[in-house]
Amino acid sequence: MTDSGTLPSRHFIRQIIDRDVAAGKNGGNVVTRFPPEPNGYLHIGHAKSICLNFGLAQEYGGQCHLRYDDTNPAAEDVEYVDAIETDVRWLGFDWGEHHYFASDYFEQFYQFAEELIRKGKAYVCTLSPEDFKDYRGAPTRPGKESPSRNRPSEESLDLFRRMRAGEFADGQYVLRAKIDMASPNLHLRDPVLYRIKRLHHHRTGDDWCIYPMYDFAHGISDAIEGITHSICTLEFEVHRPLYDWILDQISVPCHPQQIEFARLNLTYTVMSKRRLLQLAQEKRVSGWDDPRMPTLCGMRRRGYTPAAIRAFCETIGVTKYDSMTEVALLEHCVREDLNKRALRRMAVLNPLKVIITNLPDTAGIDVEAVNNPEDPEAGKRAMAFTREIFIEREDFAEEPPPKYFRLAPGKSVRLRYAGFITCERVEHDDTTGEVTAVHCRWEPPDTKVKVKATIHWVSAEHARPVEVRLYDRLFTVPDPMEDKDADFKAHLNPDSLKIVTGYAEPALLDARPGEFFQFERTGYFCADAKDSLPGTPVFNQTVALKDLRVKG
Ligand code: ATP
Ligand code: MG
Repeated sequence: MTDSGTLPSRHFIRQIIDRDVAAGKNGGNVVTRFPPEPNGYLHIGHAKSICLNFGLAQEYGGQCHLRYDDTNPAAEDVEYVDAIETDVRWLGFDWGEHHYFASDYFEQFYQFAEELIRKGKAYVCTLSPEDFKDYRGAPTRPGKESPSRNRPSEESLDLFRRMRAGEFADGQYVLRAKIDMASPNLHLRDPVLYRIKRLHHHRTGDDWCIYPMYDFAHGISDAIEGITHSICTLEFEVHRPLYDWILDQISVPCHPQQIEFARLNLTYTVMSKRRLLQLAQEKRVSGWDDPRMPTLCGMRRRGYTPAAIRAFCETIGVTKYDSMTEVALLEHCVREDLNKRALRRMAVLNPLKVIITNLPDTAGIDVEAVNNPEDPEAGKRAMAFTREIFIEREDFAEEPPPKYFRLAPGKSVRLRYAGFITCERVEHDDTTGEVTAVHCRWEPPDTKVKVKATIHWVSAEHARPVEVRLYDRLFTVPDPMEDKDADFKAHLNPDSLKIVTGYAEPALLDARPGEFFQFERTGYFCADAKDSLPGTPVFNQTVALKDLRVKG
């Protein structure tokens, strides 16, 4: 069974693995890997890949490696390494002892490159960058062979060693695979395997001034680790012939199978680390963990649960076709999970005072409130019902429109757990005319009163003001990246964050950071992990109770 409570679908990758296991391929073992580049925080797209890779390993009794794909030192940082581990663990997965860095294989990559050169399968190319581009050709036009192509192996080997030794300038020479300059697949037109770049690496420091290209390093890393199924996103499909070519030429212990699947795209969201970094750096959001961000740390802070994200990843499935998933589906999964687990509480976000005329000034009445109707174990709590309470301003209408069933002059509603009130008189502000208080007569719960609506409330005497952060989508359009030439930031929603002061029942005041609740009739909220203090919680809206955008 999965987190979404269904049997897992036999998607095409499961079918491939089923066949491989049945055929005894790789000794029947399943070894996958999740290979993030430590150049940003993980987002919900990565969650799809994590759930797939770690999930398959679990299902087939295999293992999944966490491997940092840190071969390009330009944008990498240890800050990201730590954050990635926190996020993968939070999602509920564990790599055990299989924790690797591609940079640990730098010497092996180098030795395999020498092997290619010795076998006449790679050469040091001295074309200038301009010529290089020109010689490469275009998809419709074959490339031209570099004059370096037939350089004797010994000469390439010597040049390559001197590249490593730092004798040449950055970008001066490259090591290229010798494949086919006429191939319709540009990736096979003698692709670059190594380039000279004097960059400090977060783990190897200044040991290296040449760095391997992704296509060269990735397959070899997979082979070194004995990966059986190297699962990646569709854009690598055209790289697969190169992946296979490289592994076929060198003496690696095994040849993993690369399998591509469609990446996750979500509406109203951008999902590249580069763009998310821009949002954080330009302070369009408060940081990578801003609750509006599609990052795992942002979603955690927002109150999304790992189980909800796993259920979402299972629900969307795994296919070979690029598509756009509705963010509403993710929100649905979050709601489903929180509905089972969140304690119910009452908070009024836009208060209107109600004075109960037939309750004495002093004594309140203790009413019993259910903590979670979905979970009998969650028990009950007492709430003080007092002469002055707050209700939501939206739950009262002085001139009710047709079919308005909540409080209005002369009309009655049920107060959740606390009987009925009937509006007798309305107080206004003399200058603005705004309604300032409503006077009501109260009847206890066992009275027979016909009403069509139940509203929530808090005791004005016992409730305390709390900061509540209400979120809307970060972007105003379903696909902020639709126009590739325009700035996606032009579609940022200026109203994606609204901060209000709500009135919370006392049981909410000692909310632990990260603890989640359902505010009855309002939505799911969680105490902010960063800004909440004991006694003064700050609440993030996780998701509304219902998707109001969906009709019906
Ligand atoms: P981004 O485009 O956001 O920078 P990336 O692919 O460069 O992402 P990596 O750190 O290289 O990020 O990704 C690690 C793994 O996560 C890769 O195997 C990659 O295919 C996968 N991945 C990244 N984005 C998605 C996505 N949107 N859907 C599914 N898998 C993804
Ligand atoms: Mg990448």
